[in-house]
Amino acid sequence: MRLRPDVPVLARPDGSLQVGLASQIIFDDLNDTARAWVQKLERSGIPATHEDIQTYADVIATIPSALYEDSTPERRRLAHTKVRMRGINQVTKATARILADAGVGALSVGSARTLHESPMARDIYKEVADVHPGIRRLGEHEPAHVEIVTGPGAIDEVVAYNLMSHDRVHVPVTWDEAGVSVGPLVEPGHGPCTRCVGLAHVDADSAWPFLIAQVAARPVTTHIPADIATLTAAFVARMVLDFLLKSRAAAGIWRISRERTSAIEFREVKIHPRCGCATPL
Ligand SMILES: [Zn+2]
Repeated sequence: MRLRPDVPVLARPDGSLQVGLASQIIFDDLNDTARAWVQKLERSGIPATHEDIQTYADVIATIPSALYEDSTPERRRLAHTKVRMRGINQVTKATARILADAGVGALSVGSARTLHESPMARDIYKEVADVHPGIRRLGEHEPAHVEIVTGPGAIDEVVAYNLMSHDRVHVPVTWDEAGVSVGPLVEPGHGPCTRCVGLAHVDADSAWPFLIAQVAARPVTTHIPADIATLTAAFVARMVLDFLLKSRAAAGIWRISRERTSAIEFREVKIHPRCGCATPL
């Protein structure tokens, strides 16, 4: 049990406690133990035992439920969810913050090695933990409910194969000089996969495999302008949260154009007849 990160517990000159600056919920008759309990509701969070709920029932009821971090059924469900992000860039940075704000319980932005090598990965964890101290770092080999995989042009084929073969739900996020593509959310065995997307590219241009192989062989470019990255992160997070909360898979791609930020389009993606991703063994 914890108050939302933006709700302070303040001392008033007469010794009473005030919860929130604008809402002005004032407790002026608390004993020392109750006072300490209310102060702990800010930031650190405290386990609400059965005894606490009985002892502090009046206090709990006085504070509007909207001021508690875990006040909604959605947040309570999200507290048990786990998301892994592959790729350290401005999009995963912004997405991590949105998912943490929404209440996702555990996040990973890379392995211990990534953390050692990438100051940005450490920044992401620090920023998230500063605002949401209760959030957990997902273990390196711990399965996630959704993985976000990023890359220039297309996501890594080996990574995609591993995710498919281990039945891992994932969202590809790819970029090129003209913009960023988000989706489709891939549920292995149900709906289109990233190979379906690749085969559609081949249908449009038979040279696609040659082009994408050259892009994959170059050093990864992660420069995405901040406005596009933030906008993209909102679409990535929405897709992930829709799946976590409503089991709804977005069988399509959001395309956020870099040239005109107002140009955001959704394109449906179908299972490609040559892919075989939905064919049972
Ligand atoms: Zn497929």
